[in-house]
Amino acid sequence: MTKTRLCRLCGQPLELRGSRTARLTLCDDCRARILSRYTYRIEHHITGKETCCLVCGKPIPKGYNGYTTCSRACRTLLNSVTANYRKDRAANRLRQDKQDHPETYLPPKRVLSPLGRAEQEAREHGITYGLYMALKGGMAHDL
Ligand SMILES: [Zn+2]
Ligand SMILES: [Zn+2]
Repeated sequence: MTKTRLCRLCGQPLELRGSRTARLTLCDDCRARILSRYTYRIEHHITGKETCCLVCGKPIPKGYNGYTTCSRACRTLLNSVTANYRKDRAANRLRQDKQDHPETYLPPKRVLSPLGRAEQEAREHGITYGLYMALKGGMAHDL
């Protein structure tokens, strides 16, 4: 026997799928509405206090320490509804940041060992490594 659940906000019967997390206590319509109000704030860089709860639409009580919701329950619902959006947004930001500042994300340059450096210098001078070291050694003796 399956128990029918109703959307906490509008009272629509819910199709239960998967686990019973908070997000499943809201219907798709209500979730879409909450998400769109939440994303509207972000896209328009609105950081001030809302007059009405983004989740249930009731006025946020004076003195309640919340900007977008009227209660802890609504806050929990808002968090679960917006979790995926926030995750995607964080991932996009990281990708954008990599595009804007690629140097920050480059792997550290491989440091050549002293031997590797000498070989490279020798190649740049167009001589063999052995000759290069001999010349270098000779010069050191003269000093
Ligand atoms: Zn609903
Ligand atoms: Zn509320």
